Amino acid sequence: MIQDFDSLYSIMEAFPDEQTCINDLTSIRWNKGAYCPHCGGTKVYHFADNKTHKCGDCRRRFSIKVGTIFEDSKIALRKWFVAVYLNYFS
Ligand SMILES: [Zn+2]
Repeated sequence: MIQDFDSLYSIMEAFPDEQTCINDLTSIRWNKGAYCPHCGGTKVYHFADNKTHKCGDCRRRFSIKVGTIFEDSKIALRKWFVAVYLNYFS
């Protein structure tokens, strides 16, 4: 139990807010560079809000969640991260 609490606490410290999770997911997903989840185009524009992107080819807007298991989820990414990391480390 104490160990569970420790890992939960460190996960929540590592991901203090939704944007941190978005940044982490972005770096994992786009580790070889940004691409469009709709057409695969690599000409991707980034919006100043740090979570919206637009494809220069098909012109569609998307977030990093599009095409992942997180896409249709109403659950905050942060809660997903806690669940996934707890599952992974315990
Ligand atoms: Zn596209």
